[in-house]
Amino acid sequence: MTEEKIPTTLKVILIGNSGVGKSSFMNRYVNHRFTNAYRATVGTDFFSKRTVLDGETVILQIWDTAGTERFQSLGTPLYRGSHCCMLVFDVTSSASFGALDVWRKEFLVQGEPPDPSDFPFIVLGNKTDLSDREVSRRKAQQWCEELGAEYFEGSAKADMDVEQPFKRAAQLALQQYKKHT
Ligand code: GDP
Repeated sequence: MTEEKIPTTLKVILIGNSGVGKSSFMNRYVNHRFTNAYRATVGTDFFSKRTVLDGETVILQIWDTAGTERFQSLGTPLYRGSHCCMLVFDVTSSASFGALDVWRKEFLVQGEPPDPSDFPFIVLGNKTDLSDREVSRRKAQQWCEELGAEYFEGSAKADMDVEQPFKRAAQLALQQYKKHT
C-alpha cells in the first residue's frame, strides 16, 4: 500500500495600510470578483487551495490582514510561520508607499522568520487604473532593488496583472520552505 504524502502548506501574508486594496486584490484572485463596497475586515480572511507548484502538490494559504492594522496585537501572531510576505500599497498614495518600510520591519520582528536576511518580500502597487498616481513604477522598483524585493503592480478593480504576483509569491514561499525545513 502506498501512503499519500501530506502536502506542504505554504503561508503567504498580505500586509499594508488600511484601504490600499488588500482584500480586493485577494478577492479578485480567489473569486474573480470585485466590489466597490468598502468593507473593513476585523480579523483575518484566509484562503486556502491545493495547487501544483514546480511539479509538487502544495496547499497555498493566503492571509489577508485587512482590518488588523488598527489592532496591532491581533496582527502579531498572524505573521508567524509565513513563507512570503506581500507588502501592498496604493499607487495613488505616497503615504501608503512610505509606510511599507515600517510594515516590513514590523513583520521581521513579529513574524520571526528563520533568517530575516533572506526572507522573500513582494511589493505590490495596487490601483493602477487610477490616473492620479503619486508613486511611479520607477520609484517603487528602486526601493525594491535596495531591499532585494520583487515589484509588481496592477489593479484589482480593472482586473489587471492580478495573477502574477500571487504565482510568484507561491514560488518564493516554496523556496523559503525548502530552505528552512
Ligand atoms: P484593504 O483595507 O487594504 O483590504 O482595502 P480594500 O480591499 O477594502 O479596498 C479599499 C477601497 O479601495 C475600496 O473602496 C475598494 O473598492 C478600493 N479599491 C481596491 N482596489 C482598487 C483598485 O484596483 N482600483 C480602484 N480604483 N479602487 C480599488
